Amino acid sequence: MCIFCKIIAHEIPSSTIYEDDKVLAILDISQVTKGHTLVMPKKHVRNILEADDETAEACIRTARMLAKRIVSRTGAAGVNILTNCGEAAGQSVEHLHFHIIPRYSSEDAITIAFNPSEKQDLDAVCALLAE
Ligand code: 5GP
Ligand code: ZN
Repeated sequence: MCIFCKIIAHEIPSSTIYEDDKVLAILDISQVTKGHTLVMPKKHVRNILEADDETAEACIRTARMLAKRIVSRTGAAGVNILTNCGEAAGQSVEHLHFHIIPRYSSEDAITIAFNPSEKQDLDAVCALLAE
């Protein structure tokens, strides 16, 4: 059983801020900022790409609802809502979860940077990706 399934099964304690029949939301054990929350489905799915629509939608609905609550109650100035999918993307726990990271300033202990890199041929990329 994965670590989040153990939390869902109450085998490992957590600070739960929301629970229903499909979704659990807990405080991340390492609070990147005050109120950093994880929203996960109770059903074990590895990541957002492997989730069925119903499971993904339940998580996103809950993440939006809780992000509004967290921002309003903490007085945060903004929020990052994100899911890491795959090790290369920084996923360390292979059970789908959305991070809700309230943001108090651009100096918070999180960096999301869109750095310049290799130039792409947009026509070629578009041809690859468009229907
Ligand atoms: P990922 O890197 O997979 O996107 O995020 C996994 C997150 O789960 C990390 O931010 C990590 O701090 C959190 N985490 C790992 N183990 C536990 C745990 O046992 N309890 C809680 N509440 N969070 C955990
Ligand atoms: Zn699991």
